[in-house]
Amino acid sequence: MKKRHFLIGKKQMEKVYTSQERVSCSGGDYEGHPRVYLDVAKKGTVTCPYCSKTYILDL
Ligand SMILES: [Zn+2]
Repeated sequence: MKKRHFLIGKKQMEKVYTSQERVSCSGGDYEGHPRVYLDVAKKGTVTCPYCSKTYILDL
């Protein structure tokens, strides 16, 4: 089996661990987007549709 490397866009997928069931994301300091509220509790993880940041529920 061959190993392949996939490049995911220009930016890295950032993972954020949170103990909150609902988080708000506005894209961080330098790369903002409209503030959205993401429901982490539903699946345990949620990915922001704007900046692809992944929030992981860590209780
Ligand atoms: Zn975001």
